[in-house]
Amino acid sequence: MNILVINCGSSSLKYQLIDMDGENVLAKGLVERIGIEGSIIKHDTTGKERVTIEEPMDDHKRALELVLQVIVDKDHGAINSMEEIGAVGHRVVHGGEEFASSVLITDEVMGALERCIELAPLHNPPNIMGIEACKELMPNTPMVGVFDTAFHQSIPAENYIYPLPYEFYEKYKIRKYGFHGTSHKYVANRAAEILGRDIKDLNIVTCHLGNGSSVTAVQGGKSIDTSMGFTPLEGLAMGTRSGDIDPAIIPFIMDKEGMNFEEVNNVLNKKSGVLGISGVSSDFRDLEVAASEGNERAQLALDVFCNRVTKYIAAYAAQMCRIDALVFTAGIGENSGFIREKVCEGLECLNIIIDKELNDIRGEERILSKNLGGPTILVIPTNEELMIARDTLSLV
Ligand code: AMP
Repeated sequence: MNILVINCGSSSLKYQLIDMDGENVLAKGLVERIGIEGSIIKHDTTGKERVTIEEPMDDHKRALELVLQVIVDKDHGAINSMEEIGAVGHRVVHGGEEFASSVLITDEVMGALERCIELAPLHNPPNIMGIEACKELMPNTPMVGVFDTAFHQSIPAENYIYPLPYEFYEKYKIRKYGFHGTSHKYVANRAAEILGRDIKDLNIVTCHLGNGSSVTAVQGGKSIDTSMGFTPLEGLAMGTRSGDIDPAIIPFIMDKEGMNFEEVNNVLNKKSGVLGISGVSSDFRDLEVAASEGNERAQLALDVFCNRVTKYIAAYAAQMCRIDALVFTAGIGENSGFIREKVCEGLECLNIIIDKELNDIRGEERILSKNLGGPTILVIPTNEELMIARDTLSLV
């Protein structure tokens, strides 16, 4: 069966068409600037030249209409007709406490998704728009929602309850949810496969280090704790997000800088993290270059980032009593040997020893640890689309 995987942002739409018989990507692409001047689709059918479509796309429905046209185009396309798409899998950021696993989309599910908007006001509305557009254009094709939060619904209450008045949880559902769940689940399962072990017997710490970053403790295949929280702002220092800070800093800077909630929220989400510390960039490639040229604040930003990752890994190792595997994934985790080495330097007390030669790789699966009986360190490129397609297939 061919499955179309859709990931909608507010002005973007990423897609992949996957043939699940051999889990082969038939086509993939990216639509940008939906609803803005300069809308563009960059489409790649496997084995064919890239196609670029530039024409106005007022909304996600129009964007998807053009995507479906190019997928079935007789010269540039991957399949002959839309009937060859057996199901659609949608990435949905927030499933709240309503969804602990992926789900076939029904009217009832749409109602629950609407209820989750409050928890992810920036992310869930475009996800819902994508589903609505698909429903209009492919009314007879089954659809599945796959949630970033679902994998973390196994986290026990002592790890998801904040030490706040309990009624905030009861009234507003303020608790840790965690994100990047599809990625953590994929790499944890892949690590077990690579190690030739049953995931039920393994304690794994997975580090999804990208523009947004999170670390997860996976015990017996289940997430038992993760560094992101009620929102994706908690936890590690990120490209532009602060991660953990003393909450008392917020009213303090609001007072000193005369900021309102929206402004302070903007500072914490867009102007903090390694960008905020360094004043150079949120991109780790730029920071590594600047630090190597002697920029002390760029170096400091990298040090803060790595320290936080190290601390979370050590905390999760303690929570699980031991770890069998440590996995690095996403843009930084897959590509930066420098960051992997620095993070692991602080973990030698846990017998986590990286082999510097093996660590000299980018974007491919590999075991990086010295064979000294300690936890296995792995790089595993994440594949959220494949995970979404697998869940979709199993539900339809
Ligand atoms: P992601 O959000 O997973 O797409 O990750 C994007 C981030 O990965 C970028 O902002 C960079 O900071 C980082 N990145 C990508 N390639 C490299 C690289 N070769 N070295 C260091 N960081 C990288």
